[in-house]
Amino acid sequence: MNALIERICQIREKRKALILAHLYQPGEVQDVADRVGDSLELARYAAATDADVIVLAGVRFMAESAKLLNPSKTVLLPAAGAGCPMADMLDDTQLRELKAAHPGAAVVCYVNSTAAVKAESDICCTSSNAVRVVQSIPREREIIFVPDRNLGEFVAEQSGRTMFLHPGYCPTHQRLLPEMVESLRKEHPQALVLAHPECTAAVRATADLVGSTAQIIEACRTRPEREFVIATENGVLHALKKVRPDAALYPVSEALGICPNMKKTSLELILQALEQNRNEIIIPEDLARRARLPLERMLAL
Ligand code: SF4
Repeated sequence: MNALIERICQIREKRKALILAHLYQPGEVQDVADRVGDSLELARYAAATDADVIVLAGVRFMAESAKLLNPSKTVLLPAAGAGCPMADMLDDTQLRELKAAHPGAAVVCYVNSTAAVKAESDICCTSSNAVRVVQSIPREREIIFVPDRNLGEFVAEQSGRTMFLHPGYCPTHQRLLPEMVESLRKEHPQALVLAHPECTAAVRATADLVGSTAQIIEACRTRPEREFVIATENGVLHALKKVRPDAALYPVSEALGICPNMKKTSLELILQALEQNRNEIIIPEDLARRARLPLERMLAL
């Protein structure tokens, strides 16, 4: 074991800390984590842990969700500047204006959002459970879906619900183009194409299966094909290689399928966060109380 990892393990034990890593994190960060998962899995781990400290190797909204779901814990975000451009595309003032324009509508909020936006929402969703969340809302009630238009469109198709969609998007998934997928299909005609719903409708239309990061991993693990084209953030390839060492995996774009914010975490920053209690997530109590509700409603489903 290298010296850095050894020091992380020592201080993790000393502080009774749990290290959670998102599947888009660098491989070495995923390997040092206690648990690796997509947003829904990380939220569940954070809510259930009895550790004193949660180190969230991911982006800010994930660390905020961990703090909201388990407020007595110290939650640390190793890379202070790791944000999510999609989450920043909508603020609470804009959401209040949308609600005023659609009186009585239910607000379904993708977890990729700020705590302030969650506080204005009725229920949260992740890409794993968004269809189920939308189906839980009475048909006669209008729905505002924020902030991801691509996921919203996918959920509308799957659930048969018409929704008002906020025009946010993930810049990383938006950069993946259908012609890139088609070119890989030509090169590898036997490959199964797996796409995340944050991809554009044009990319989703080229896919054999559209699903969350965890659903992509599950499909890869269980499907008989031996070649897969992966249309999502390339960090997921680290986990895919472990579940399917026999398979050939082709990311849609080596260069473009990278979220720069997800790659800000390093082993050094995890160690510093634990040693110096750096970048603790603090959410004012009134905001936390309102932002927690839609997350708890989601987990209760
Ligand atoms: S991959 Fe996209 S949605 Fe996820 S953190 Fe990066 S920018 Fe945000």
